[in-house]
Amino acid sequence: MKKRELGKTGITVSELCFGVLPMGPVQYGLSPEEGGPIIREALERGVNFIDTAQAYNTYPHIRHAFKGLPNGGQDVVVSTKAHAKTYRDMEAAIEEARSELGRDVIDIFLIHAAREDSKVFADRRGALDCLVDMKARGKIRAVGVSTHSVDVVRVGTNMPELDVIFPIINIAGLGILHGTREEMEQAIAAAAKAGKGLFAMKALGGGNLLTDRKAALDYVRGLPGISAVAVGMITRDELEMNLRLFNGEEVPSDLAERTKRQKRLIVQYFCVGCGTCVETCPNSAMTVVDGIAVNDKSKCILCGYCAPVCPQFAIRLV
Ligand code: SF4
Ligand code: SF4
Repeated sequence: MKKRELGKTGITVSELCFGVLPMGPVQYGLSPEEGGPIIREALERGVNFIDTAQAYNTYPHIRHAFKGLPNGGQDVVVSTKAHAKTYRDMEAAIEEARSELGRDVIDIFLIHAAREDSKVFADRRGALDCLVDMKARGKIRAVGVSTHSVDVVRVGTNMPELDVIFPIINIAGLGILHGTREEMEQAIAAAAKAGKGLFAMKALGGGNLLTDRKAALDYVRGLPGISAVAVGMITRDELEMNLRLFNGEEVPSDLAERTKRQKRLIVQYFCVGCGTCVETCPNSAMTVVDGIAVNDKSKCILCGYCAPVCPQFAIRLV
């Protein structure tokens, strides 16, 4: 497994980053006992980089994966993020991560800002100031932002407070906001040139690009400026497949078939049309039509954020 420097952070990461979102309660709901061993196997086979978030509720899965490691997993690079707006809320999010992950220092802590434009840096100034202070106090090693927005990447490039940018990018341009795929490619390259560390999210379009996983991953892996690619995994087959692709190894055809699983979002009949999912969706992929939520597949990146907010539990990703 190739390892790369993440910008000027001094942090070295494996090219494959284990995305923990899908195994958590927001999507597939694996328990820590089910998901933890899959993360652990990845760590034992050369992955040293994990992407999570306060909102994913997956710290217990990661903690489970670290159990029994000689140094308690302190060598593993963990990136997490929070939706906090204020200094106080971000401080609480950092303390929660330190306590639940069982480590004094969090490697990378990001402003979690999927759909927001560059006003996010003013609107959530308190949270950003907190990250900068906590880095100075040694509680985190690098500060950054996770985003779907070309605008945020461009503005973030010129902000000395930011060490890391975690943008969406994929071969189909799914989910990119405030610009095209090509504009995002250019923004990423410019950010890297300015010394930011970049790793990519949604290379597989939230599951929409699984029919040609290799082409989708190769596209992102080949982008100038991208040090690592976060890929969500919930099964040993998916881990095996991704390890083989990132290591340049042959993929048996039966394994390729088994990992073509295409996710779908289903709105069940008992939706009451309350619109909570419409407000939550970062991609404007939900609307309420005649009293029932309708999913626009051309905009939906299957992130799963809408499912847990539905008061009727009417949204399922299967
Ligand atoms: S949040 Fe649930 S009940 Fe409300 S509109 Fe969306 S799917 Fe329907
Ligand atoms: S509809 Fe739901 S799963 Fe699709 S992009 Fe919006 S929040 Fe994510």
